[in-house]
Amino acid sequence: MAALNKRSLTDLQEMDKSHHLHPFTDHKELHAQRSRVISRAEGVYIFDADGNKILDAMSGLWCVNVGYGQQELVDAATAQMQELPYYNSFFQCSHPPAIELAALLQDLSPPHLNRIFFTGSGSESNDTIVRMVRTYWDLMGQPERHTIISRDNAYHGSTVAAASLGGMQSMHKQSGLPIPGIVHVAQPYWYGSDQSLSPHDFGIAAARTIEDKIKEVGADKVAAFIGEPIQGAGGVIVPPDSYWPEVQRICDEYGILLISDEVITGFGRLGEWFGADHFGTRPDFMPFAKGVTSGYLPLGGVFVSDRVADVLTEKAGEFAHGYTYSGHPVSCAVAMANIKLIQRENLVGRIKNDIGPYLQEKWRALGEHSLIGDTRMVGLMGAFEIVKEKSSLQRFEEDQNAGATLRDHLLQDGVCMRAVGDKIICAPPFVLSHSEVDTMIEATWKALDLTKASLAGSQYG
Ligand SMILES: *Cc1c(COP(=O)(O)O)cnc(C)c1O
Repeated sequence: MAALNKRSLTDLQEMDKSHHLHPFTDHKELHAQRSRVISRAEGVYIFDADGNKILDAMSGLWCVNVGYGQQELVDAATAQMQELPYYNSFFQCSHPPAIELAALLQDLSPPHLNRIFFTGSGSESNDTIVRMVRTYWDLMGQPERHTIISRDNAYHGSTVAAASLGGMQSMHKQSGLPIPGIVHVAQPYWYGSDQSLSPHDFGIAAARTIEDKIKEVGADKVAAFIGEPIQGAGGVIVPPDSYWPEVQRICDEYGILLISDEVITGFGRLGEWFGADHFGTRPDFMPFAKGVTSGYLPLGGVFVSDRVADVLTEKAGEFAHGYTYSGHPVSCAVAMANIKLIQRENLVGRIKNDIGPYLQEKWRALGEHSLIGDTRMVGLMGAFEIVKEKSSLQRFEEDQNAGATLRDHLLQDGVCMRAVGDKIICAPPFVLSHSEVDTMIEATWKALDLTKASLAGSQYG
C-alpha cells in the first residue's frame, strides 16, 4: 500500500496499460485515455488518485451496500484471519463461519428455502444452479428435462454457463454461446416496446412468451426458468406488476423450477430482504453474491428450496461439484458482520420507509426534464431513459452517445452513475443520507442541462 502510494499516478497508469487486462473494457479506448485510478473510499464517496471526491451512486458494482469504511467488517475479517484463514468444506469438513452464516441466511430467506450452497461469486452460483437443476431432474427420473429458459438482455454472470444463461448478444457473439440447452424469451421491458399494450397487458404477454417457449421445446424437456426480479445490468428493467405472478403461474402449471437471480436484489436493495419477497414469487433457487458481503470480500451462494434440496441430499450420492473457496471462512465472517450491521441499523426498513421514498420522489421529478422519457426506481435501484423527443419516443442517434455524455457530465460534477446505452442507472449505498440524495439529484439536473446543450451543439441538431 505504502509502496504503491509512492508511485506517481502516471507511473500507475503506464503499468496498468502495460500489464493489466481489464474486464468489460475496450482496451484501445482505455489506452487512448488514462485509467481512472480509485485509491480510497469512505462512506458513499470514492476518491480517485487525482484527488477528486466522487459520490458513488452505483455502490461499486451494485455491491457496497453498507458503504465504505465500515470498521466492523474489517475487524471481522482480521479476527477470522487470525483464527482460521482458510479451510475447505469438501469431504465431510466444515467450519464455524460457514455453518453460522448458512443458519443466519436461512433465517432471512422465504420459509421454504432452508439450505445454502456457497460459491465465490454470482457467476459461480449460476453455474452451480445449472448443475443442480439438471441433476435434480436426472434424480427425478426425467433426464430429458435439461432445457433452461432465460431472457433476452439478462445478466447472470460471465463464466461460460452464466454468460449462456445471460441474454447479452455482445457476450454470446464473442465466444460461441449459449451452450446447448439454454434458450431465451422476451424481457418485460414495456418502455422499450411500441407501447401499444397497457403495461398490465404487456406484462402478461411478456410472461406468456415463456409458455410459448415451453410448448415449442416440449413441456417434458424444460427444467427451469431463470430471471432477475429486476434486470440490473440490462438497464434496470422493472417489470409491470402483472409479470411475476403470471411467471409463477406458468412455472407451477408446468412443474418448472423457478430461479430468482438475487445477486443484485438480495440483501435489501428493493426494501425487502429479497426480490422474491418484493414480487411475491416462490423460487426453487436464489443465487446471491455482491451485497452478501457488501463487496468487502468475494462470496456467493445459492439458496436451495426444500423440494430440490431433499432430492439432492437423499437421492444422490456425492454431488460432484464445488469450489476451493466455497464458504471461505473469512468471507463468511465478513458476510455475518455485514448482515448484522444491516439488521442493527434497520437498513432494509430504511430503504422501504425513508431513504427509498425520498430518493424515488426526486428521481420521478427528473422526468420533467425535456431529455427524460421515463424514470423508474424500486427501493434504491433505478434508471431513467434519455430521449430526443418524449411524445414520439424518438431516441438520439447511437453515435451521439447521449448516455455516455450525461454520465461524463455527472462524473465531472462528482457523481458516479452508469450509462447502459441511453439509460442512466443508479444503485446507491443503503447508508446514503438525505443531503447526499440532494447532492446527487442537483448534479443530475445540472448534467441534464449540459447534456442537452452538448447534444444540441452536435452536428445532428
Ligand atoms: C453481477 C451479477 C452476476 C454475476 O456475479 P459475479 O459475482 O460478477 O460473478 C449474476 N447475476 C446478476 C443478476 C448480477 O448482477
